[in-house]
Amino acid sequence: MSSIFAKIIRREIPSEILLENEHVIAIKDINPVAPIHILIITKKQIPSIQELADEDSFLLHEVTKAAKALAKKLNLSHYRLLTNCGEDAGQTVFHLHFHLISGRVLEGMA
Ligand code: 5GP
Repeated sequence: MSSIFAKIIRREIPSEILLENEHVIAIKDINPVAPIHILIITKKQIPSIQELADEDSFLLHEVTKAAKALAKKLNLSHYRLLTNCGEDAGQTVFHLHFHLISGRVLEGMA
């Protein structure tokens, strides 16, 4: 089944793309929780980090490289990079993605 992010990757649904390469795409979140809220999405459709196979672990490096490039491009002094894994953790789209959140002081995780 095709996720909403797969449709975004295929340009079937519009989005504001900030970075894209062979492995990942970074878009603005449609419902931002901070002035900067970017989703870094793996192009490979993996449901969550829990299903990430060893041979795909390089994708985590691709995600961190993208986060660093975005932080540099947007001149971010600080940011939070996180992934929700499972419904009870707040995951709503079952296609591996990381939230890059910044643009304000971020409260503790509590
Ligand atoms: P999750 O809850 O799975 O960790 O994160 C999913 C994120 O995707 C949410 O922050 C939500 O706002 C965002 N989102 C859902 N649908 C769309 C969409 O069609 N376009 C964009 N840009 N973001 C979306």
